[in-house]
Amino acid sequence: MLWNDLADRVLRGEAITRDEAMSVLNAPVDELLELVAACYRVRRHYHGNRIKLNMLINAKSGLCAEDCGYCSQSVLSQTGVDRYTLQSADVLVEGARQAMEVKSHTYCIVISGRRPTPRELDHITAAVRQIKQKFPLRICCCLGLLDDAEVQKLQAAGVDRVNHNLNTAEDHYDEVCSTHTYKDRVDTIEAVKRGGISSCSGAIIGMGETDAQIVDLAYSLRDLEVDSIPVNFLIPIAGTPLGGTEYLTPHRCLVVLCLFRLVNPTKEIRIAGGREYHLRSLQPLGLYVADSIFIGDYLTTRGEVPEKDLEMIADTGFVPATAPDATKISEYAPGIAPLGIKEGSNGSQRSDIALRTP
Ligand code: SF4
Repeated sequence: MLWNDLADRVLRGEAITRDEAMSVLNAPVDELLELVAACYRVRRHYHGNRIKLNMLINAKSGLCAEDCGYCSQSVLSQTGVDRYTLQSADVLVEGARQAMEVKSHTYCIVISGRRPTPRELDHITAAVRQIKQKFPLRICCCLGLLDDAEVQKLQAAGVDRVNHNLNTAEDHYDEVCSTHTYKDRVDTIEAVKRGGISSCSGAIIGMGETDAQIVDLAYSLRDLEVDSIPVNFLIPIAGTPLGGTEYLTPHRCLVVLCLFRLVNPTKEIRIAGGREYHLRSLQPLGLYVADSIFIGDYLTTRGEVPEKDLEMIADTGFVPATAPDATKISEYAPGIAPLGIKEGSNGSQRSDIALRTP
């Protein structure tokens, strides 16, 4: 395969075929750099040298009756994960301040559970209004299943984006979860789009899916026209049903990112959970394909310390994207040095990506 020719066609606005998508997933090891370089041309054309940093807070942990096989917050898991009800508004606002500290573009409020209760929704929307008054951050909420009325409440509070991952292909979904369906997830994404909020939906790779199912998922997300696609790589947490499922390699992770870039060239592609664990020393190469990462910890697992990620970004010549006016940090968070980063930011355990998908 001539990867630059493929990139040329993508840059002309042509869609790659399923056969070509399969070829990307099966790119030989000795063609990896050529493939990444071709994807970088696409990434640079649509996203320049910016990288969006997203910081999340696990606002409610564990206590979930759903049975998602990748998730340590499910009733099925025996992981000893922290269990707590919805954090106070003060904690959510403090999380936003810390997101500012680490140059985040977007602050993601995530709760465990099938869907939010009316009381939880009111609590979160009130906190979002406070955050919006204090900080120039984009706010993304990941709250589980949502209907039109719930999306309207989020939109009215100023929520910029809602995340709800498809996670895997439709014909693999039953292998991962039995308490809700792939269609439930699609319905939520469509409600988000109807409500005029930016949509975020992505993948968890490494759950026993086939290459064809990864390609299906990439095309499904293209067809749904979601704005942002987080690509998670399963951290097989002991005590979860998928705890023994481990076969990903750094090469595999990179070609998966390349696939999502080439199928969804204009969209925000985020290297999400599992970045440090699976990409290991090849993480910098991922920045030439994706234009977004999480910074700090995940929902229930640790991420890299933010200073290290900011160093990697600077070393590769990329620049953190800022939300409007976010460079005026001192106006919003007096006393904070922009790079004054504390380890263990919000004091709570945050989940790995996998768990970032109620
Ligand atoms: S991913 Fe969400 S819905 Fe599924 S078990 Fe975990 S917290 Fe519950």
